[in-house]
Amino acid sequence: MAIELNGKVIAKEEEENLRQRVFKVTEKLGFVPVLATILVGDDPASITYVNMKAKACERVGLRSKIINLNNDTTTSELLEVIEKLNNDNEVCGILLQHPVPKQIDERLCFDKIKIEKDVDGVNSESFGRMVMGRNAFVSATPLGILRLLKYYKIELEGKHAVVVGRSPILGKPVSMLLLNENSTVTICHSKTKNLENIVKMADIVVGAVGIPKFIKSTWIKTGAVLVDAGYNAGNIGDIDLENCFDICSAYTPVPGGVGPMTINSLIYQTVQSAEKLI
Ligand code: NAP
Repeated sequence: MAIELNGKVIAKEEEENLRQRVFKVTEKLGFVPVLATILVGDDPASITYVNMKAKACERVGLRSKIINLNNDTTTSELLEVIEKLNNDNEVCGILLQHPVPKQIDERLCFDKIKIEKDVDGVNSESFGRMVMGRNAFVSATPLGILRLLKYYKIELEGKHAVVVGRSPILGKPVSMLLLNENSTVTICHSKTKNLENIVKMADIVVGAVGIPKFIKSTWIKTGAVLVDAGYNAGNIGDIDLENCFDICSAYTPVPGGVGPMTINSLIYQTVQSAEKLI
């Protein structure tokens, strides 16, 4: 019987601990630490995510500040907003909701976020530091995945992890985190040949593609651990999970697996950032 790696349960448990830490840090700082979220445009999914993150802040006692910008915001206007937040002492974390409208140079804006406040781990320098095993905030979804696997004591050392997807916010950083945990990592993408055969060799499969049920049950090795980071319309993941229950040893459900851990990791790193100010 496969184990369900339930992110919802861990996030709830961890929130209680974070609430106490926020209470203490607020007393010492003399102000409530702020997570500033920048939302450019009116993409409905992004609005939902931003609201979910604001609610998570409320639950642990952080202040959430949402900055709504028009769809036609330019890169330089967005850079100015980030600069102001970089210089605002009460802002301990800055999150630029992804994706931004096409006219914006997203990478330039991500890299403008001060690494001390980069609680969503999107800055290139944060990424480089993480790869080198140095102290840095980590991209929230990959960190959430690692925390989830560690909570359930999933063995990573020496295991063959196959990550399908190489985006800067998910596939690449989760691959590097797994590598730092001594997994043997294969990173796959849209140009990978023989994907099915590569996935068949995996002890750990990470689905980070963005295509519903893209990874088939017939590709899964008996006993593999399945991490489904995909979150597609209709609450459908990137792995055909329902046909894998008798094959895998553990899996993250969709929803309720990686999603809650992503939000929790963002809050977790915001609290860490606030504590560094004491
Ligand atoms: P993305 O930026 O679109 O990246 C998708 C990746 O999948 C790319 O690296 C792409 O390869 C690869 N890919 C596309 N088609 C492929 C194919 N046929 N074979 C193999 N690889 C293929 O997406 P993302 O932002 O990483 O997100 C991926 C999924 O995770 C989405 O469902 C998203 O909603 C979900 N997500 C969930 C959370 C959460 O909190 N639960 C957070 C972030 C993302 P190339 O690089 O070659 O184009």
